[in-house]
Amino acid sequence: MNSINTQPETGLDPKDWNTIRSLGYQIIDDMVDYLSNINDRPVWTPIPQTVKDEFKKPLPQNGSDIFQVYEEFKKNIMPYPGGNIHPKHFAWVQGTGTAMGAFADLLCGVMNNNNTIADQSAMYVDTQVVNWCKQIINYPDEGSGILVSGASIANITALIVARNTMVANAKYAGVYAAAGKLTAYCSAETHNCLGKAAEVIGIGSDQLRKIPVKESFEIDIVALKEKIAEDKANGFLPFCIIGNAGTVNTGAIDPLDELLQIARKENLWFHIDGAFGALAKLVPAYQQKLKAVEQADSVAYDLHKWMYVQYEVACVLFKDAAAHRSAFANAVSYLLAHERGLAAGPETTSNYGMELSRSFKALKVWMSLKEHGIDKYKQMIAQNINQALYLGEQIQQDSKLELLTPVTMNIVCFRFNPGNLDNEQLNLLNKELLMRMHEAGIAAPSYTVLNGKYAIRAAITNHRTRLHHLDEMVAGAVKTGEDLMKEHEANLFKFYYLTK
Ligand SMILES: *Cc1c(COP(=O)(O)O)cnc(C)c1O
Repeated sequence: MNSINTQPETGLDPKDWNTIRSLGYQIIDDMVDYLSNINDRPVWTPIPQTVKDEFKKPLPQNGSDIFQVYEEFKKNIMPYPGGNIHPKHFAWVQGTGTAMGAFADLLCGVMNNNNTIADQSAMYVDTQVVNWCKQIINYPDEGSGILVSGASIANITALIVARNTMVANAKYAGVYAAAGKLTAYCSAETHNCLGKAAEVIGIGSDQLRKIPVKESFEIDIVALKEKIAEDKANGFLPFCIIGNAGTVNTGAIDPLDELLQIARKENLWFHIDGAFGALAKLVPAYQQKLKAVEQADSVAYDLHKWMYVQYEVACVLFKDAAAHRSAFANAVSYLLAHERGLAAGPETTSNYGMELSRSFKALKVWMSLKEHGIDKYKQMIAQNINQALYLGEQIQQDSKLELLTPVTMNIVCFRFNPGNLDNEQLNLLNKELLMRMHEAGIAAPSYTVLNGKYAIRAAITNHRTRLHHLDEMVAGAVKTGEDLMKEHEANLFKFYYLTK
């Protein structure tokens, strides 16, 4: 039998709100110091084993003082970031964030909206931000969209809509509703999240055809046409072409106009992964090459990369709002909008994507765009591209460095090449060089492999970077490479040691 407990009730709020207020002031002070002194710290610091061991401790049974919790954070967590807020971070494609973005996240946490349903301000801000996302890339106003955690989920969301639109009844009958194996097409340089998307939507990544690229790392249109024809002859069912507006390896932009034409001619869905590169559309020199973004059936891009907004936020946009909605909408009794009261107002966002509960991620975008205005972002993106061009030039001018592909946007791939090593040795040498640059805190580019060549890769989506930071990376790479060669010549550094 249940009986009512007579113990005093309790809660999770502080006993004294002034305590939380004073911790809050301290956090704000520390936060401002942390951001404003960023140049005084190395881009990356290895985490000591003792600190890593802290994270193996078991579940706390009893509470601790909030100041103590915060001190632990300051001691063990705050000093060991991945470094992407640092001006010398160029690894993968990572955004920098802003001070106002951090405040937005704080305020978001205070309001703790569930940005899914209800007649609440967050729902209207969310819609406004999606509309702004269309305006940023000049996408049709009548289109629809949704904010999600990143381009990976944005791309999956797009392919779900593509599948359900191109195959009648696929929403209910799955891929089995198709009269053949559903097949999608993209370049071999396409991000692996699209392979995952193919797996998630049930076609399998084997049915995502990775078409070879040309020397420019752009999709080979002739090979694409041939593959579509071959697949059709063999009973496969092409339904979607995916174009890249900026590949992750080199920033290559596929010939989107041509892809669009092929998609229209073949009656295929045309999706664009514009994770960071779609935003280059803000820069006049890229407008023509990215013009087809405006006509794609769906486009995905991140706001946490080249819009420098805090993690996580991306958008996916659809030309056909009804197709978008019908892929996800389900009239369940507990989510229906009412005429008045809390349950009135905008339709649940769960009718437009996979997620039900959602954070108010729109707020940081809203605040950032209000703070700076879109013209400032145009300037920042152009500045990053200019920095990449400058970096490419510095590399070309240095006889010990080799630029591995022409710089076409904000990504630079290079290696240290003293001229007397074979490709395998160069690969091993450059991997070691990169790890040493990270450990020494010189700069944090990342890596990729281009045509069998290990490349040091710098992707600049960083509003804190200045040209001198790039000079420091170049000088650091040359110096580290020269040190390695001296060790090699003195037989201290053996190239094979890297693979062991
Ligand atoms: C980063 C990236 C993705 C994945 O985006 P997330 O926001 O990390 O999920 C997809 N495509 C390209 C080209 C990217 O650069």
